[in-house]
Amino acid sequence: MSELKYSKIISKLSLSEKAHLMTGKDFWQTLNIDREGIPSIFLADGPHGIRKQAAAADHLGLNKSIPATCFPTAATMACSWDPELGEELGKLLGEEAVCQKVNVLLGPGTNLKRSPLCGRNFEYFSEDPILAGKMAASYIRGIQSNGISACVKHFACNNQEINRMTLDSIIDERTMRENYLTAFEIAVKEGKTKTIMSSYNLINGIYANENKHLLVDILRKEWGYDGVVVTDWGGNNNRVDALECRNELEMPGVKEDTANDIIEAVKSGRITEDVLDENVDSLLKLVFDTEEAFKRENKPFDVNAHHDFARRAAEESIVLLENKNNVLPLSSEDKVAFIGEFFFKPRYQGAGSSVVNETKLEKPIDELAKCGLNVVGTAKGFKRYGQKSKGLIKKALKASENADKVVVYLGLDEVTEAEGLDRENINLSNSQIELVDALVNAGKKVIVVLSCGSVIDLPFANKVDGLLHAYLTGQAGASAVLNILTGKVNPSGKLAETYPFALVDVASMDNFPSLKRTIEYREAYGVGYRYFEKAKLDVRYPFGYGLSYTDFKYSDLVVDENGIKVTVTNTGKVDGKEIVQLYVGLPNSKVIRPSKELKGFTKVNIKAGESVEVTIPFDDKTFRYFNTATNKWEIEEGDYIISAAPNSRDVRLFSTLHVAGTTEKLPYDIKNLPTYASGKLRNIPDDEFKLLLGHDIPSGEVAFINKKKTRIIVDYNTTVLELRYAKGWLGRLFSGAIRFLIWLLKAFGNKTLANTLIMGVRHQPMRGLSRFSGGAIRWKQLDGLIMAFNGKFFKGIHKFFKEGRLAKKQDKLAK
Ligand code: BGC
Repeated sequence: MSELKYSKIISKLSLSEKAHLMTGKDFWQTLNIDREGIPSIFLADGPHGIRKQAAAADHLGLNKSIPATCFPTAATMACSWDPELGEELGKLLGEEAVCQKVNVLLGPGTNLKRSPLCGRNFEYFSEDPILAGKMAASYIRGIQSNGISACVKHFACNNQEINRMTLDSIIDERTMRENYLTAFEIAVKEGKTKTIMSSYNLINGIYANENKHLLVDILRKEWGYDGVVVTDWGGNNNRVDALECRNELEMPGVKEDTANDIIEAVKSGRITEDVLDENVDSLLKLVFDTEEAFKRENKPFDVNAHHDFARRAAEESIVLLENKNNVLPLSSEDKVAFIGEFFFKPRYQGAGSSVVNETKLEKPIDELAKCGLNVVGTAKGFKRYGQKSKGLIKKALKASENADKVVVYLGLDEVTEAEGLDRENINLSNSQIELVDALVNAGKKVIVVLSCGSVIDLPFANKVDGLLHAYLTGQAGASAVLNILTGKVNPSGKLAETYPFALVDVASMDNFPSLKRTIEYREAYGVGYRYFEKAKLDVRYPFGYGLSYTDFKYSDLVVDENGIKVTVTNTGKVDGKEIVQLYVGLPNSKVIRPSKELKGFTKVNIKAGESVEVTIPFDDKTFRYFNTATNKWEIEEGDYIISAAPNSRDVRLFSTLHVAGTTEKLPYDIKNLPTYASGKLRNIPDDEFKLLLGHDIPSGEVAFINKKKTRIIVDYNTTVLELRYAKGWLGRLFSGAIRFLIWLLKAFGNKTLANTLIMGVRHQPMRGLSRFSGGAIRWKQLDGLIMAFNGKFFKGIHKFFKEGRLAKKQDKLAK
């Protein structure tokens, strides 16, 4: 064991104190031990604005938090392709965190966008690990420049929200390393994050939070991470197993339960006290290190300056997708109508634990007055939650009667796109599509402005003249959008994910979503453009795509062993920014790989008529692949194609470069993996997936105890939804009541509350009922509940109340 930094303090702490330090004091704070000068630290969401709850606490975004700037979400910021901007955003986030005395900011979210359906895509960066990793690292550097800690999350392979607390990600090692871990690796090595949040799910049968391969072998040993690992809220399964994997902190607090587990484990010799001490030392480092931030002068943050930055960040990220016959920018001579529910009530952030109580909020309707446009009409056009809107469409047509251009604000509502659930499709509501059709048929030039955090189907893309994807812009998005529409700002964002023609085109659709206990990552490398490029499938908008009010020409590509140089000329009449992308591929590779992969990018500002030489260096990730035969990153010898491109499809210039290899030993014989090798990653046969996995494919079925498949034995990991098969009637009743309530709320009442119940209760495993209750339901009481759910009603209920009384007594004694 290495020398402990705080050995002196640790030697003065009792076993019980040390064990209690390993779990929260309450929902957001760690334990303080005043006698030894150990303060408690505060952890708060979130990724695009601080959500510090001063009073009632929850992880679902239910109770309001202290006002903070709501910046654009990660999905938006990734479209800026600008890590410097990310760092600035991080700096301001961190500054606000210091003002609110937050030690650990729970973000950025760095999971890969495996499927467009994932309900949390709005708070993740990209389908590409390099872009996601570079953006995450930039946020972390910015946040931590204030002396506090960022917390990169959710580590790892947490790509489906349904059943997120019990789902087992079945994934092969190479895919995991190359696709799903690389962004985290960059966040650790380049961002130097001081905290990581482990995810709720299991990976290949072991909870992420107690997964030695993930947390010890890869994170600590390979990447050299020496910070703290915190559980996702309520995501602790076996506290002692997790502690052994250096999961220092369990959140939220669970009173005595898990501290007792640790104490017993030390007393029984299951773990040595050294293991506990090492964890305590690591936590104390985070505590004392981040507390320094509050010793400096603490001025209140400049609300207006932060708001202005939020606007600039949005302006740099908004993506122009269509601009037929230069319909944009709008001029003061145009007669324009502004239509759309989102024009009156903007959608500007996600839903769930990342919800920010913004300091102020711009609305397009208010900002319009400042633009000097000739506005001839406004109307709502449709209802927010997809209800039929024939009457509103008529009114919209009337309002646009005298307009020659109509700007329509469309998007997804906050109920459709939220943490804890996945979308069922990628459609906008029918009424929105009908509205666009009606306006197009009326002969108007239609410009659509989109507000949503993830991929949607755009059946009107060819019919409309202009299409601006604003994503989720944060609180100053209204003026940012108008600045782009009017040409005050030249758009420069590019998509950080592919827009397919249809959801069925996406390779993961064969495996996503999964309603079983397991989710298979059969499509392996086939995420986003990696699949579409290799399978040569047409897409609506490729990864990296975005237009500008000017044009760029690429010339003079020079490739050497250090990287590329390429000249980019702004051939238009206005200044603009171009994002130059470096892609690398190896034709005839002996190892299966995508035809091209992003390995670097640069955003440059180029004045009209001028040229700039852009340099993109290679790094340790440019040529590597993970070789499961040698269990190492290796390089395959060959002539690599090195391309400079404005997006993944449109290679403007390329050259080849011979690179020497590191090993002759191959992970497999490519002949045995014909489907993977073909790039057509659909209906992957079991034997090929098995070969990649290196073991059998687990069934993922719930273990039924009868032939009719209607009954199960309830255990700690049975979810509320699965309780419908419980052996005992109480379990079935409980599950039925929750499901009925959700149905009722969805159909007739409060859709947001229905979502919250799905997020917080429906997929909750039994252990969560205790882990989340802040000690209200103790672990031993849970045993009673489980007994009752398994048919021993009286015995179970008796135990539930008896253990409750006992726990209260023990708590009193402990005080
Ligand atoms: C989310 C985390 C969040 C935590 C605390 C969890 O449910 O997955 O991202 O930081 O709650 O709110």
